[in-house]
Amino acid sequence: MRAEAAYAELIAHFRELAVLESCEDLLGWDEETYMPPRGVEHRGNQLALLAGMTHDRLTHPRVGELLADLAHADLVQELHSVPETNVRELRRLYTRAIRLPRLLVEEITRTTCLAQQAWTVAYRKSDFPSFQPWLEKIVVLMRQQADALGYATVAYDALLDEYEPGARSDQLADLFAALRKELVPLANHLTAVRRRPNGAILRRAFPVDRQRQFAQRVALAIGFDFQRGRLDSTTHPFCMTIGPHDCRITTRYDQGFCDAFFGMLHELGHGLYEQGLDPDHYGTPMGESGSVGVHESQARLWENTIGRSLSFWQYFYPALQEAFPESLRDVGLDEFHLAINNVEATPVRVGSDEVTYNLHVMLRFELEQALLKGDLPVSDLPGAWNEAYRHYLGITPKNDREGCLQDSHWSEGIIGYFPTYTLGNIMAAQLFARAQKDLGDLDAAFGRGDFTGLLGWLRAKVHRHGQRYSATELIEAATGSPPDHCHLIGALRRRYGELYGLAEC
Ligand code: ZN
Repeated sequence: MRAEAAYAELIAHFRELAVLESCEDLLGWDEETYMPPRGVEHRGNQLALLAGMTHDRLTHPRVGELLADLAHADLVQELHSVPETNVRELRRLYTRAIRLPRLLVEEITRTTCLAQQAWTVAYRKSDFPSFQPWLEKIVVLMRQQADALGYATVAYDALLDEYEPGARSDQLADLFAALRKELVPLANHLTAVRRRPNGAILRRAFPVDRQRQFAQRVALAIGFDFQRGRLDSTTHPFCMTIGPHDCRITTRYDQGFCDAFFGMLHELGHGLYEQGLDPDHYGTPMGESGSVGVHESQARLWENTIGRSLSFWQYFYPALQEAFPESLRDVGLDEFHLAINNVEATPVRVGSDEVTYNLHVMLRFELEQALLKGDLPVSDLPGAWNEAYRHYLGITPKNDREGCLQDSHWSEGIIGYFPTYTLGNIMAAQLFARAQKDLGDLDAAFGRGDFTGLLGWLRAKVHRHGQRYSATELIEAATGSPPDHCHLIGALRRRYGELYGLAEC
């Protein structure tokens, strides 16, 4: 068979598969937004059936034949070309999928669907014992998945590879140790200074309907296309793409301003990435996002680097004051800006400050490895969690809702994902430093409400490449050097040192 024909058949097969998978995604989105609680059992059956069907198509013997036909074709010889990218990444996907039995795929899908609902109830009531049996089941299933996938030294790496291809837990452990050495003294330094932010202003009354309107307004101003996306409410914020012109972002409206707003900005960063992918390549690796770490870099960039900058609020703060006059009339821009950059050890990861954030990630990374290895029985998780918070952050969560139940990841069968947040922070700092070099005074543009320059740069350097490059290659191509955490540490020192009035920290 001619290589061109094999390639065309392969692409057509995967484009159709993407349509089927997007039906699964839409059901998943609905499950986490509008589905009534008692719909869960049927939803689990729907999703399990679809997961089985997509798995069958993904692992169809014809895919193996086509990939074999293309193995040495001229068409795929040029590294990083469209056909080479598509064939390379589809081969990776296929090789991984054929190791997983369909029954296991269905079982994971059904169990995690039910477990998510159990988690939602447990989270609301701060009731870990009701969630414990579900997490026990999930840990067993994740071990089975890792065993089926295979690994060189540790099972965790098989799971990690799905989110961050090529990453290894021993290298991440070294990275976290290096970060910890820098971040713990920096956090201690900042929390010891006399200039303390007034966090209470952010916990005043912020009626939810007006929060929603303000979030919508900011998302639109930054560049989210509402003709190609939506913003809805959920229990744990997420972003999901349903099709080339349909991207759903969510946030949760709680008391206070920060949780919902910065949660929205985070998901907006994911959404802008998804909307920036090339729709002509939809359903193929060239039209899909890179590693989860790269995705997180886009989310963390808008959430923090931009969303917590003074110039961003020079533009948006008057509108915010107008939306919430009863809470912000007496609060000046500088006071507000300092308050949203409060560096303080808190029990909840989402919304924690940038300096302590990676410590939250690090302890989850350690705990999930222990769960998977069997060193930590699920029943001991609440105690181990609280102990880790005492050890790394010097605080004790007051209940399991703000302790080990706060994140939904494990209930979704997502183990090996947390480190990507830190990788994302590292990449975000490096990308932003380079964008500033290339684009000049970004603060002046943000102060005018102009985000098009930066968004255009991100589209060209990151979004449009799809899966053309590995995460490391992408960062190197965009910035001129491979990922290095020194950019993050430097940026945090500069920004917080300035904000807290320290000459050097
Ligand atoms: Zn994210």
